Amino acid sequence: MEIWEMTALALGQSIRAGKISSEEAVKACLERAKQVETDVHAFVHLDGERAIQAARAADRGIREGRYDSPLAGVPVAVKDNLCTEGMPTTCCSRILEQFVPPYTAEAVKRLTDAGAVILGKTNMDEFAMGSTTETSCFGPTKNPWDVSRAPGGSSGGSCAAVAAGECAAALGSDTGGSIRQPASWCGVTGIKPTYGAVSRYGLIAYGSSLDQVGPIGRDTADCAALLGLLVGRDPKDATSAVPGAHQSMDSFLKYAPTSSETGEAGGEVAARGLRVGIPEAFLGEGTEPGVQAAIREAAERLKAMGATVEPCSLGLEEYVIPAYYVIASAEASSNLERFDGVKYGFRADQEESDLHGMYKRSRSQGFGPEVKRRILLGTFVLSAGYYDAYYLKALKVRALVRQAFDRVFERYDVLLAPAAPSTAVPLGESLADPLKMYLGDIDTVAVNLAGLPGLSLPWGLDGQGLPVGLQLMGNRFREDLVFRAAFACEAARGPWKEVWKREGGISDGKTV
Ligand code: GLN
Repeated sequence: MEIWEMTALALGQSIRAGKISSEEAVKACLERAKQVETDVHAFVHLDGERAIQAARAADRGIREGRYDSPLAGVPVAVKDNLCTEGMPTTCCSRILEQFVPPYTAEAVKRLTDAGAVILGKTNMDEFAMGSTTETSCFGPTKNPWDVSRAPGGSSGGSCAAVAAGECAAALGSDTGGSIRQPASWCGVTGIKPTYGAVSRYGLIAYGSSLDQVGPIGRDTADCAALLGLLVGRDPKDATSAVPGAHQSMDSFLKYAPTSSETGEAGGEVAARGLRVGIPEAFLGEGTEPGVQAAIREAAERLKAMGATVEPCSLGLEEYVIPAYYVIASAEASSNLERFDGVKYGFRADQEESDLHGMYKRSRSQGFGPEVKRRILLGTFVLSAGYYDAYYLKALKVRALVRQAFDRVFERYDVLLAPAAPSTAVPLGESLADPLKMYLGDIDTVAVNLAGLPGLSLPWGLDGQGLPVGLQLMGNRFREDLVFRAAFACEAARGPWKEVWKREGGISDGKTV
């Protein structure tokens, strides 16, 4: 197996054992990126020299026994809305194109403190608004499974980079599905943690009450190990929580197969007695048959392995998209106020004599159409005459969604559903029809409204040979149960690469 194909944990183990150096691992990823980046375009900033220096430092640290983390020396990529000191952080927007932060996001810092090496910054929808990575001012990322298709979004760059072997793992952010949906479309694993589990310090805000940073990896164990490093209270983010009893790397990895030989048995143990609910509305009309089939097949296999699987209902599915878009846009309109042409570098090219003219021109030129649409929508729903009718009503729906989940989680450990109603769409399709794009978030936004954890892992391929993901939703701060269910699903599925080779994926050699 090539170095760039290895999981983060396997790579970390080889690095600790002295079989591979971090420098070699980083160079292997850079070499891989050289081969695929012209087609995939996952990165918007790739600093090979800096990464090699960091890898050498990590190798020194490992030799001197300074790291006890299983991911020391492992090359990772970071979504471009997470601040990195001295490295551009643009949110893939013209308005931040020249911004180089003077500080590093807490989530990124926790990875580098554990000895992980940052390769660079990945492409995303502008300010994380979008579902295909096509609203980026740097142009779209392509899905490594089929470069005529979108990787999903907004963390499309991070997911494509993992899928294509350009990094061992990556960080993304999820406001309404931006980790889970692209993970599903790219055939990788990603988890959006419970709101408050991971610090948002240094994550450039989109919808502050919804945003969470989370890991993306080649399998569940990698995500569990990464999340184990990320969780924790951070005094710099007042919404971050002290980790609960179930929130340690050990709890997350409890059901991980120790080796591929024991995978099946580990999965059986994980599945036995697990209570799985299937919210039937998630499988309704509008969900592609290939996606529905994957969920039903996974449910059957889990049942055969000793889980109880039952249909259930949240009962509010038709309201989650409008509530999400009202709240997310309202918060975005407020969060994006700070980009005014004075701070962060960008100023419209023409000198203006009056201040308001300068603001207007800078914002008109600096933001793309999707961001402008959200700012207008958000300002409208917060305006005096409409606040009660839209914003306040959306908050009430949000409270009801939270209660509905609370009720359902009295009976189930996890909910199993799709991460998206379709597999990867052709590039260009969703830009033409924003409303259709918004509706595509139907499977992911409820989790954000309720602040719950949600994970997506690859299950199989649809009729077109494109990856289909499963989504597992859990109760607040019960990522351990989500991981347990994910390990059970992985065991039921078998090794991902074998599955897609058997099912004849249309990967053109750009995937791991
Ligand atoms: N597609 C959703 C949106 O555009 C979710 C994006 C996200 O999670 N950042 O708002």
